[in-house]
Amino acid sequence: MSNRINSQIHYNVFTLLQQLDSGVMNHFAWLRDLHRAMICQEFDSDSPNLLHDAHCHCKFGRWYEANQPEGLLDSTLFREIGVLHKEMHDAAREMLQEQIDLQKVHPGVYTRFMDSAIHFKVAVRQFQANLIERVCVVDQLTGAWNRHVMYYKLGQEQERLNRNGGHCCFCMVDIDRFKDVNDTYGHQIGDMVLRRVAEILSASLRKYDTIFRYGGEEFLLCLPAADEPEASLLLERLRADIEETPIHVNGHAEPLRVTASFGVACLSSGRDIEEVIAEADHALMWAKSDGRNCVRIWADGL
Ligand code: GH3
Ligand code: MG
Ligand code: MG
Repeated sequence: MSNRINSQIHYNVFTLLQQLDSGVMNHFAWLRDLHRAMICQEFDSDSPNLLHDAHCHCKFGRWYEANQPEGLLDSTLFREIGVLHKEMHDAAREMLQEQIDLQKVHPGVYTRFMDSAIHFKVAVRQFQANLIERVCVVDQLTGAWNRHVMYYKLGQEQERLNRNGGHCCFCMVDIDRFKDVNDTYGHQIGDMVLRRVAEILSASLRKYDTIFRYGGEEFLLCLPAADEPEASLLLERLRADIEETPIHVNGHAEPLRVTASFGVACLSSGRDIEEVIAEADHALMWAKSDGRNCVRIWADGL
């Protein structure tokens, strides 16, 4: 997953989880029927399991073919589920055909079938776990990482600094007079503006920078390998990008424009994360009291 903005989830994750669950349950029932047919010798030469495209005829297969959700966090794994599902049906067909033709199944054929059934189920569970993890760590409105994962990721950055030395800047970003946006345009447009600001920030960050939604209209940026002068240059560009980007609002001829204030503090080896966040917050308050739409860097005696 990218460190910056995570593409919006365009479908209901919970519906998808539930559909995958029923897919797995249907396959348990299918597995039971298949074993019964083999053990009790109930062969049906018209069984859909013998078709070459049997994987497209089962309930899960029909659902899978009709549902290729856009913007999935891990489309590779979703594709792999399709491949494993087909492999499982192919192995089932081979096993059934052998039973019909030879009245027995070679142990290797049975093992291959069961292995493919297990791999399919493990892949579905893995995909579900990734979806759940995503819901837990990504802010749904903006696509930024949420606070659950923020301390974990900042802790990783701190460990890296403790090991290798160097710098990392934290920056608190707060949209200016955002209450006025809500009061003038309503909360839905306020939400849309928040999303756009997160996108603008994300587009201007370096690929190893991270953006977290810290609170309402506040974001925390983590800028590894940047000292204060470097961070200041980067953030000045971000500040200008936000100021200069028109935000088009449905039903309004004139685009909306917002600005944001930035407060920066530097994490170095052995320093406390909370303390550095508090310093960035102080620098942000300074930016606000200096008239907003500016970048301020925390320094002793600010
Ligand atoms: P300042 O320049 O001092 O930061 O002024 P401000 O108006 O941005 O700050 P204030 O703290 O007074 O108001 C923040 C507003 O942000 C109030 C709150 O309703 C709004 N807000 C917080 N979270 C969300 C959200 O998720 N969606 C929307 N639409 N508004 C939000
Ligand atoms: Mg604000
Ligand atoms: Mg605020």
